Amino acid sequence: AAFRRPVRTLRVKMVLLGGSGVGKSSLALRFGKDEFRSTSPTVGCAYLTRVVHLSEVTLRFEIWDTAGQEKYHSVTPLYYRGAHAALLVYDISSRESFIRAQLWLKELEKQSVPGSTLTWLVGNKGDLDQDRQVSAQEGKKLAKDRSLFFTETSALSGDQVNELMLDVAHRVYEHVG
Ligand code: GDP
Ligand code: MG
Repeated sequence: AAFRRPVRTLRVKMVLLGGSGVGKSSLALRFGKDEFRSTSPTVGCAYLTRVVHLSEVTLRFEIWDTAGQEKYHSVTPLYYRGAHAALLVYDISSRESFIRAQLWLKELEKQSVPGSTLTWLVGNKGDLDQDRQVSAQEGKKLAKDRSLFFTETSALSGDQVNELMLDVAHRVYEHVG
């Protein structure tokens, strides 16, 4: 009889960053529970967990969401300290949120967060294509210039959310092994 080797479990800390109203809490809820709520679940959501199984390893994600501190445009470094992955989120229908994302990047670079933390630039609300103010090209370019990964998602429809989760899982596993 073949013995099945026990699969290793890795704990992965993932943080959500970006301006208020871009859909961070909605994405966290999709990641954690595959739900979408039309009212903002921001308050009270400290973190959610989600288990992702890859062939070699099981990843236990702790998904950290801000509880409104992002209004002051910076969160305590404790929030993202030790994070394996960061999702820097903007809203494709809001030019302002894209500009804010760039201010966040400056803040993160000042705290020298990148390096150990793999960072994704995420254009959320992809379903609002008719109100789009930020092209996918612009998002891609910013990501490329800052050595970030890039995707567009919709927490509303769920589009690209699981793909993003799996991409994070694979890359984090490759990174920390
Ligand atoms: P947060 O402040 O970044 O945590 O944003 P929330 O998750 O609270 O979402 C702010 C608002 O945007 C809420 O009304 C959500 O229902 C809405 N929202 C979030 N994600 C999406 C999305 O992908 N598409 C659309 N159309 N609305 C969204
Ligand atoms: Mg929120």
